[in-house]
Amino acid sequence: MKLMYALSVLLALLAVISPVFFASGKNNTEPEIAPTENSGEPVRETPYASPAGIDEGVPVCLISADSEQTLSMREYLVGVLAAEMPALFEAEALKAQAVAARTFTLYRMLCSEAHDGGKVCDDYSCCQARKTTEELQGIWGGEYEANMAKISAAVAATDGLCLTSGGKPILAAFHSSSAGSTEACGEIWGASLPYLISVPTFEGEQEVPNYVTEVALPFTQFKNTVFAAYPDAVFADEPSGWLSQAEYTSSGRVAAVRVGGVKITGTELRVLFGLRSTYVSWGETDSEIVFHVTGNGHGVGMSQYGANAMAKRGSSCGEILAHYYPGAELSDMTAAAGDGEHI
Ligand SMILES: [Zn+2]
Repeated sequence: MKLMYALSVLLALLAVISPVFFASGKNNTEPEIAPTENSGEPVRETPYASPAGIDEGVPVCLISADSEQTLSMREYLVGVLAAEMPALFEAEALKAQAVAARTFTLYRMLCSEAHDGGKVCDDYSCCQARKTTEELQGIWGGEYEANMAKISAAVAATDGLCLTSGGKPILAAFHSSSAGSTEACGEIWGASLPYLISVPTFEGEQEVPNYVTEVALPFTQFKNTVFAAYPDAVFADEPSGWLSQAEYTSSGRVAAVRVGGVKITGTELRVLFGLRSTYVSWGETDSEIVFHVTGNGHGVGMSQYGANAMAKRGSSCGEILAHYYPGAELSDMTAAAGDGEHI
């Protein structure tokens, strides 16, 4: 019954989601990073730890490895934000992440069949990572109170706000860092979405730890790794031809490549060799194949380090979201439900 109640609340919310403002879409392919006068109204401010926030009334059913629990959207998002973005990031970047995380959660609950019954899980590769209070106390130690205040404030300041397209929550994908531009989802995930196109992003080596990484595999290890996944691979004597015929997406990431003659996607290459992204080049030494990788993550949607770079330059939460999700609307999921009928 509790689940049915939760779903009925969420379906009611979906029915009444209404735009707060139209995100700037004046030039979706070349959005400006500098703050502009018309690129979005300020995100509504609410007091820190508002006791009667909208998020507090929205139940989230969370599946963990060995348990299932129902949290409020507020409590859930605080744990997600703490796990998904460093607390030392700028306040506007944290607020943008809070909106993206709330939106992704609503998308999973209402528009995805990843889990039965509109549930979410705590696996970052499926839904979103989340840390508990106890885990954060252990990780943050003496910084716990200050960090939690900052994280909670970002959730509270964006209370109830999500990104929509056509009145529904968008697939608010995000990743750690990109190389020059983000990836269009149609070039990596098959289907295109108008708000997940490639846009410029401005993080670099100075801001991102381990921005460029190297993965080196001795020749024998390289071949064994390939054979384990692709038994039909054939390797010529000369290692320089083991990786060949690379194709690239418009953002410069590997779309496909032949490995030992077997054509695989860039994502498969990334998984096969444990690379941090598909923005990768390679070469060989006398004894190894060496990959050079830039950025971290699939590259689709909001770059977290890019969001932080924008915030440092003075961009607001709304401007950051408009940049990485062009054309999406920042919406209030309960604007039409203020009479308490639905919550
Ligand atoms: Zn999941």
